[in-house]
Amino acid sequence: MPNDHITPRIARWVCLALIVLALPRIARSSDGTGTVAFLTSGAMPSGLVERVQIHLGLNLGISIRPVASPNEPVHEFDAAAEAWTKLRVPRDHCLIALVTPATATNLRGRVYFNESVGILNVQHLATIKPHIKDLSIEEHIVRRVEKEAMRAVGLLLGMQACPSVRCAMRTPAGASELDNKGRNYCPPCWAQSMRITGVDLQERNRRMFEGNGIAPDQKKSPR
Ligand SMILES: [Zn+2]
Repeated sequence: MPNDHITPRIARWVCLALIVLALPRIARSSDGTGTVAFLTSGAMPSGLVERVQIHLGLNLGISIRPVASPNEPVHEFDAAAEAWTKLRVPRDHCLIALVTPATATNLRGRVYFNESVGILNVQHLATIKPHIKDLSIEEHIVRRVEKEAMRAVGLLLGMQACPSVRCAMRTPAGASELDNKGRNYCPPCWAQSMRITGVDLQERNRRMFEGNGIAPDQKKSPR
C-alpha cells in the first residue's frame, strides 16, 4: 500500500519540524537561564562599559554576552535596532546597546520590543545636570546607565513599569527622579524577573558572592 511508505515519511518530517521549532528553547536552556547580548558603539567614558556589564550580570543573575562593536557609527536608533537584532542568538533574552551616536540627539534611549533591542544614549545621559550632592559627575553617568539598562532589560523581559521610587523599573518622570531612583529591582520586580529568566536564587547569590557577573569565558584575570 502506498500509504505504508508515506506515513513514515510524514512522521520523519513532523519530527524534523518539531526539532527545528524546539532548537531556540534547547539552546536557551543549555546554560540554564539564557544571556543578555551587550554591545557598545561610539566613545564611552572610561570604565563605564565594564561596570554596567558587571552590574547587569550580578543583579539579573544571568550571563552578559559581549558582542563586537559594529563598525558603522550610529546616526539613527531605529536603523541600528533593526540591524542589531540580527546579532542576537537564540539564548539571548535581548540585546542592550550603549551608544554615543555620531549624530547627537536628545533621545535618552529607546526600547524596541519587536527586535528585542534596547538602546541607551550614553552621550545624552552624560549631559544631564547632576542631582545627587557629593557624587561625582562620572559616578552619576555610570549609575544612570546602570539604572536605564536594568529598566530596558526588564521591559524586554515583559515586565511593567514599577511605581516604587526606589526601583530601577520606575519610569523616571525627570532627571531628578532618574538620579534618585535605585539601581536594582525592588523585591517584587526582582522576583518577577527571576520567574521569567528561570534564575535560581542560589546561583544568583553565588554570583553576587563571587562579585563577577561576566560569563566565565569573559572573566579577566584579577591582575
Ligand atoms: Zn519594582
